Order: sequence, then C-alpha cells, then structure tokens
Amino acid sequence: MNLHEFQARDLFRRYGVPFTVGEVATTPDEGGAIAARLGGWVVVKAQVHSGGRGKAGGVKVARDAADAAAHAARILGMTIQGLPVRKVLVVPAVEIAAESYLGVIVDRAVQRPVVIASAAGGVDIEEVAARTPQRIHRVTVDPRYGLLPHQALALAFRLHSDLTTARAAAEIAQHLYAAFIGLGASLAEINPLVTTKDGGLLALDAKLVVDDNELPGRPEIAALRDTSAEAPSEQRARAAGLSFIQLQGTVGCCVNGAGLAMATMDLVKFYGGEPANFLDIGGSSNPQKVVAALEIITADPGVRAILFNIFGGITRCDDVANGIVEAAGRLSLNVPLVIRLTGTNEEDAVKFLTGAGFSALTNTDQAVERAVALAPA
Ligand code: GDP
Ligand code: MN
Repeated sequence: MNLHEFQARDLFRRYGVPFTVGEVATTPDEGGAIAARLGGWVVVKAQVHSGGRGKAGGVKVARDAADAAAHAARILGMTIQGLPVRKVLVVPAVEIAAESYLGVIVDRAVQRPVVIASAAGGVDIEEVAARTPQRIHRVTVDPRYGLLPHQALALAFRLHSDLTTARAAAEIAQHLYAAFIGLGASLAEINPLVTTKDGGLLALDAKLVVDDNELPGRPEIAALRDTSAEAPSEQRARAAGLSFIQLQGTVGCCVNGAGLAMATMDLVKFYGGEPANFLDIGGSSNPQKVVAALEIITADPGVRAILFNIFGGITRCDDVANGIVEAAGRLSLNVPLVIRLTGTNEEDAVKFLTGAGFSALTNTDQAVERAVALAPA
C-alpha cells in the first residue's frame, strides 16, 4: 500500500526522523491560509502516489501567501503520471546547503533489509544510480539485530565527513530503519535529507510503501489507504476481489491462481510478448469475477489480445466459460480472446464456448503462442 508524503512524514516523525510541520490543503484558499500561518515562505507539494513530482512541476517554493495560493491552484489542477492531484501539502520552506538520499528496502536476493545512502540525493537520484553506481552506498541489515550503530555510522560517513553531522545522520538512519520495521514497510525513503545553512539535518520528503501482508495487524495504518489516489483499474480490481497489477505490455492476462499467473507471464515473455497485466481471478467459481476482470483488462488501451489461462480445480471451467460469454456479450470486445482451460468440467466449458463462437484450447504453450502472435509487443 502506497502512502502520501504527508502521511509518511507523520509516521516517520513518530520514530524520531526530523521533518518540518505543515498542513494539507484541498483548495487554493486553504493553501494560502496555511502559508500565511507558516509565515508566507513555504513549499507547496502535490500529494500523489508517484515520484518525480518536482520534475513534473508539482513542488513549488512560494514567496508569500498569495503566491502559495497561486501555486496550489495550478498544482491542484495537475495530473502526475496519470494521477490527478487532489491535495497539496504546505510546509515551511528551507534553505538547502546539500541534498542526500537515505532509504531502506528489502533486498530479495539476500532476503534482508538494506539501508541505502548517497551524498548525491535529490531529484536526480535515479540517474545517479544508473550512471555512477559507485556513489550509492549500501549496508545489509541482519533483522535479528537491526541496524547496528557502527553500520549506521559507517554509512553516515559516506554522507558527511565531520563527526557531529555524521553522528546526526547515523541517528536518522537508525530512526528510519526502526520506522521501516515498525510500520511493516517494503520501502521507507527520505529524499532529500538536507543539510541546512546552519549545518543541521532535516528530512524534506518522505516515501513509504507498506507491505499489504503487514496491514491486518496494523489497522491504524490500513485506515490511511487513500483509494481516491489509486489508479482506477486497481480500485476496480480491489472492489471486485481480484489481485491485479497494471503492466505496460500488449497481452492482457486473466488467470486463476497467483503462481499460474506468474508462470503465464513468463511464458508470454518466453514467446516474445509482453504481458499487459498480472491478474489473478482467485480460486472461486464466480462468473461475476470474470466479467469484472474482462472489464478491467479491456479498459487498458494498450491491450491487443486477451489470454485466459484457467486450471480448473475448485474453479470450474464451465463457470469461467459462462463468465467469458456473459462478459463478451456485455462489453463490445474489439480485441481477440485466446482461451485455454483444463481441469474440472473442461469438456462442458469447451462445448459451451465453441457453441458461442469462441475457440478454446487445452494446451498452454499453443494458447500463449497464439496470443503473442495476435499482440506483437
Ligand atoms: P519529488 O520530486 O517527488 O521527490 O519531491 P521532493 O519533495 O523531493 O521535492 C523535489 C525537490 O524540491 C527537492 O529535491 C528539493 O530540491 C526541492 N525542495 C523541496 N523542499 C524544498 C525547500 O523547502 N526548499 C528548497 N529550496 N527546495 C525544496
Ligand atoms: Mn523526493
């Protein structure tokens, strides 16, 4: 689950990460009023689930309250990476001497949290990582012991050469690690962590992604979910009880079971195609889910063919076939369907689909090859 910057700031602050305190506005007037209370010189920041807000023009320094209201008016009308901006955060502006990066992620290769730091923080961190990876420093954490003081200090010396500032940065790294663990995060990031003109350290941006599997034990965090800020396709999928992740390819995939869905995506790639999505319709027999799945997949203009891959165990192939025919009747499908079903009630399903004018296969490789041929990447 993605959180907004203002939510992540509040959560990180509880663990001791130093942030300035601001307020959220949903209208330009509100933004101006907050700026007036904060003394006029503020930063107005788009609150959307996307990085690169600064580059997109969604982060602006204002001279006074009127300027802040004007920035808020413009930013509140923006769309950043397809997401409409509905809220802005207004925070006191800071004079920056230097920007660094500090983050914690899970490294799947070593199956441990990794703390990452760079003295080259700010809006170009992706380029820094791509072009000058030697400027990115990492330390792997043993979760039994946490981020040890000497590890934090060694990393902090990559950011600051003087002992006082390095100690302060090490403390912030330990606070951020504690937040990462305490909040059940898969990503906790401060970019930039700035050195101010007086030599102090201050976090100016916060990014937090909480692992969905950690939410059941953390109702307070689960309640922070802002569904209005999520991609429409993902909202619809959650409402319909489907696991769905939007990707950039051309082969829409509708599969039952997460493992088969992953294997299907691998096969699409193997045969030279690109999957347009991950979609698991789950293990139940519910034609409505198939209808919802087809609606979501066909709403993506990048989809050139749709591949069904159904292994009927608890899921009954005839139920899925019903759903397909029902959905195809209701939606005006203008892309070809390739259907592969096998397992429970397979014969009924194939007979029913053939009768309704669809072709159904039982061999996965054949089906995937055909879908890829119909939807070149
Ligand atoms: P992002 O682009 O989505 O990562 O948004 P950030 O919150 O990181 O803001 C982008 C950039 O705006 C930062 O890297 C800073 O360079 C700049 N910025 C943010 N807050 C301030 C501030 O208080 N003062 C100044 N001078 N620049 C700021
Ligand atoms: Mn940032």
